[in-house]
Amino acid sequence: MSFRRVMRPVYTFIFILLLLAVASITVAVNIDTRMHRYDGDRWETAVEYLNECSAAAHVQSIRYESYAERADTDKARGTARLFRALAHSERVHERICAHASRLFNGEYTPPTVMVKVNTPTRANIEKSLAYERRRLDVSAGLAAKRAIDAGNRYIARLMIWIDGSNRRHIEFLEKVGGRNSDDDVKYGVCPNCGNMYESRNCDVYCPFCQTHSSEFAVFGD
Ligand SMILES: [Zn+2]
Repeated sequence: MSFRRVMRPVYTFIFILLLLAVASITVAVNIDTRMHRYDGDRWETAVEYLNECSAAAHVQSIRYESYAERADTDKARGTARLFRALAHSERVHERICAHASRLFNGEYTPPTVMVKVNTPTRANIEKSLAYERRRLDVSAGLAAKRAIDAGNRYIARLMIWIDGSNRRHIEFLEKVGGRNSDDDVKYGVCPNCGNMYESRNCDVYCPFCQTHSSEFAVFGD
């Protein structure tokens, strides 16, 4: 038996091994590139959006706090309670967006803002309604859809919570704006998702995030 003949199976074996090695490296590189590209698109856009969302909620929470102080001055106690509950809901939104941003390696720094309120409570209710309605018109469902399309169910859920809570903001502002006299309505705010309730009609569990109502922040006197 010649040396060549003996070595043929060995060469074939080495050749197959080489082929396998090249194939697996190609597959690994492809998967890696695709994942990075996908992650880049998905996370970077999301982080940018989440930081904007946190900053906007931060500014609006400060505005609502100032409106609450003015409502105290105007002796509109029920409206002051509503503004404080709205401010709290915005702070929850700020926190959950900032937390999500950090999870995806984003960095959120709250903007520095000075809010000066010179208008009476009636006008502040109208301003708030205009802001909330515009926000829903412009953005409701869009961020959630983007997150769903990108396969990011976690962010989609947060965006759906925020859209839902913002819709409640409008409901309560319309109610308080339609009342002639201030009344004794109290408000509950879910600490996990920011959803709001009139405390007399409160759900036992938050229908958005299943937090028990005993944990809600209550705004009453
Ligand atoms: Zn909730």
